[in-house]
Amino acid sequence: MRVLAIESSCDETAVALVSCGPEDFRVEASLVSSQVELHRPFGGVVPEVASRRHLEVLYPLTEEVFRRHRPEELDLVAVTAGPGLPGSLVVGVSFAKALAYALGKPLAAADHVKAHTLAIFLEETPDFPFLSLVVSGGHTALFLVKSPTEHLLLGHTRDDAAGEAFDKVARLLGLGYPGGPVISRLAERGDPRKIALPRPMLESPDLDFSFSGLKTAVLNLVRSGRSFETADLCASFEEAVCEVLVEKARRALKALGLSTLVVSGGVAANRRLRQKFLEMGKEEGVRVLFPSPEYCTDNAAMVAVAGYFAYQDSGPAGLDLDIHARSLFPRLELSLT
Ligand code: ATP
Ligand code: MG
Ligand code: FE
Repeated sequence: MRVLAIESSCDETAVALVSCGPEDFRVEASLVSSQVELHRPFGGVVPEVASRRHLEVLYPLTEEVFRRHRPEELDLVAVTAGPGLPGSLVVGVSFAKALAYALGKPLAAADHVKAHTLAIFLEETPDFPFLSLVVSGGHTALFLVKSPTEHLLLGHTRDDAAGEAFDKVARLLGLGYPGGPVISRLAERGDPRKIALPRPMLESPDLDFSFSGLKTAVLNLVRSGRSFETADLCASFEEAVCEVLVEKARRALKALGLSTLVVSGGVAANRRLRQKFLEMGKEEGVRVLFPSPEYCTDNAAMVAVAGYFAYQDSGPAGLDLDIHARSLFPRLELSLT
């Protein structure tokens, strides 16, 4: 089944064409137009500016795909219906509805957070059930993934997401936006043990996270006037984030007796994070999988996979499909003792 997918939940406009089978996914086109430069002067995403740019870019991006692949060859139009910025989501969903209607093809709704997890199917085929850690700009969450469509929430961040923490720390160090790539680049030259930073929530008996305290610790250090090398601070901060993520995932794997872990979302592009997760996988005898960096950050190929599975599971979405700013996942409470 050939799926055309549209993604516009935040500051990336993306269109992809993916040939989807139950076990075999082949990306035929995956175009991403990033708005990073547009939002850089503001130090973060400005919602109104984002939706306007989605509106300008979606049509030419889709035309570009149709220059190489005929619209008649499509079987399904998939779109991110949430979570994300409401104004941005509305642009993508309206565009996808119009496209599906005009071409006479069914429409499928994809969840952006599930799509980050399901991106792995573009390159690998994990066995169910598996543990998924989504670490992105807006989310940090652990899921028990029982099937492509059944994702049970085990724990999530109580305040900032991991990516958000990278972005905020970069901002207060004057390193620009987005923070993840620049911090990880500087961290390569720094000493991760040089500056003592907290490991938030490692003591708590649940699978939740918290990153705002870590950001405050960095802020306090900067304000204290103590001298430090920026590279050391970046490395120490990155190490603290990675350690918490790895240890919580290790606990979840043990508690559930799972042998596969998928780590996805923009922060999963981080090299140190990938290295530490692979080390943990070796220690625990767990298969650790990551999508390629281009499928960790926002893209529409992952939306095609999520839309395909949603369509297989519950059929087409109607033309009255609505957007949702937040996703509500069924929660599985684990007692970790
Ligand atoms: P969400 O998926 O939660 O709605 P989003 O779509 O904005 O949020 P993504 O595009 O998946 O998030 O990821 C963007 C985030 O990933 C940003 O916070 C960015 O700083 C972070 N990021 C990107 N590359 C790296 C990296 N190499 N190291 C750490 N963080 C990174
Ligand atoms: Mg983004
Ligand atoms: Fe995302």
